Amino acid sequence: QLEETIYLGKLSILGQMAASIAHEIRNPLTTVRGMIQFLSKDTDDQQLKQYGPLLIEELDRSNKIISDYLALVKPNEINLKEINLKQVVDDTMALLAPLGVYSNVVIQSNLKHYHSVKADEQHLKQCLINLIKNAIESVQDEDGGTVFIKEKITTPGHIDLIIEDDGKGMTNEELEKIGLPFYTTKTKGTGLGTMITYKLVKNMKGSVFYNSIPNKGTTVTLRIPLA
Ligand code: ADP
Ligand code: MG
Repeated sequence: QLEETIYLGKLSILGQMAASIAHEIRNPLTTVRGMIQFLSKDTDDQQLKQYGPLLIEELDRSNKIISDYLALVKPNEINLKEINLKQVVDDTMALLAPLGVYSNVVIQSNLKHYHSVKADEQHLKQCLINLIKNAIESVQDEDGGTVFIKEKITTPGHIDLIIEDDGKGMTNEELEKIGLPFYTTKTKGTGLGTMITYKLVKNMKGSVFYNSIPNKGTTVTLRIPLA
């Protein structure tokens, strides 16, 4: 108990430091991004035309790494409430629909309206975004595919939200590494998404586990307390 308290204390100092450093780094990044956009606008310079978008992409990537890192170390206020699970899933699906279309992935769900969970709405949404995005990204390299979201009650007092994809799957070695800081197999990944999910889910007294078969797909189970 004591050890946990000390650890959390240290984490929050780290979180405060990270927050202020992130802020200091983000300001110049935003300025530089605006400058590049400004200079690229209506330009005749071929090199600027060619490399401008790449510069912006790299700046956005830096920003994403900062946001992800921040989400991880910042002590977040948790606001547990009774919320409708289907509503949160529907909202998240609507948010990710454009990415699905762009990636040639169909996202479907079969949730019923009557299950309420005890969770932090924003945090639950963040977890779902992380998990569904990974599912989409595992499919998109292939010729498109499907992400299916369903619910199931297997444990008293809890509900399982199951996110199933028919993407590239993971070997046992890869499964062991998922959730380690900065572990990613993607050229543009940050390798922080799963750690953030683990942290947020743990705070909501839930759990996450993976089943995966290489070249067949992955099933992620997000187990959260019913209200
Ligand atoms: P990132 O998405 O930035 O790579 P994550 O922590 O979200 O970081 O995921 C870490 C790694 O776990 C991914 O790079 C990928 O290799 C693997 N992974 C996660 N979800 C899936 C999935 N649904 N199917 C296949 N691989 C996955
Ligand atoms: Mg991810």
